[in-house]
Amino acid sequence: MDIKTYVLKRKQNLKERILKDGGTPSLVIIQVNDDFASNKYVAGKINDAREVGISAKLIKMPETTRLDELLKKIKKLNKDPHVNGIIVQLPLPKHIDENIVKEAINPAKDVDGFHPLSRFKACTPLGIINYLKDEGVEIRGKNVVIIGRSNIVGKPAAMLFLEEDGNVTVLHSKTSREDLKNYVANADIMVVAVGRKHFINDEHTLKNSAVLVDVGINRDEDGKLTGDIKPGRDVYLQTPVPGGVGLLTRLTLLENVLEAYLHGI
Ligand code: NAD
Repeated sequence: MDIKTYVLKRKQNLKERILKDGGTPSLVIIQVNDDFASNKYVAGKINDAREVGISAKLIKMPETTRLDELLKKIKKLNKDPHVNGIIVQLPLPKHIDENIVKEAINPAKDVDGFHPLSRFKACTPLGIINYLKDEGVEIRGKNVVIIGRSNIVGKPAAMLFLEEDGNVTVLHSKTSREDLKNYVANADIMVVAVGRKHFINDEHTLKNSAVLVDVGINRDEDGKLTGDIKPGRDVYLQTPVPGGVGLLTRLTLLENVLEAYLHGI
């Protein structure tokens, strides 16, 4: 099933579960800037939430906010029984240590899954795994190559694929081009999260049976979005950009909020 149809179906299912429950799960997003991209991402998350019956509230703080002011706000939300999920929109201003903020969020409300003890899995990798499993992609014993080792995609993706018994290899900026080509040629499943347009391209040999998951979001000069993998490869499955992993990430956030509401503290 293509990702758009899959996401629509799961969102419909979420909406029905929330309606049946009769209550209203609630999400609060804290944004500490007024930049264009963050405004757009936050507006998207609020729309998504409202579409399925989740109440979503934005707390917008100025770029000059001090760490202690932000932590105070988070602590208040941590204790508020009416708040099920809390997100702090990244990036944060340079003077604020992202790790301190991530760790300040109550793990039971950390629907982004960024806290080391979070009850939730990070949305992008979890969205990918759920989709592949629903598509019937076999992970056990398969060579899973993950390119990129960020804390929000590469590393948690590696853990999730390991839990599914994949043979996981993580490649990164210090992997040589030659090694990368060899691993890529042998990959049954590949997740690419580098952030460079068409990082995987015609130079790279791939298995015809390969499953390619493109996490990258790169913007051309003309504003067009492109992925990390050149489109149109002759493989079993290749996720598009746009309309691919981004949609899965957004869906998984909503599923995490419902989970937080149903099984909160
Ligand atoms: P990042 O930007 O923090 O880091 C990039 C990673 O790429 C690093 O781990 C680095 O080791 C690796 N890398 C850099 N050069 C490399 C090379 N030559 N060979 C192999 N690896 C190399 O990573 P991120 O935050 O995971 O973001 C990666 C991309 O995914 C970005 O385009 C981002 O916008 C996108 N993203 C998309 C979603 C989504 O929902 N679709 C979610 C998160 C991130």
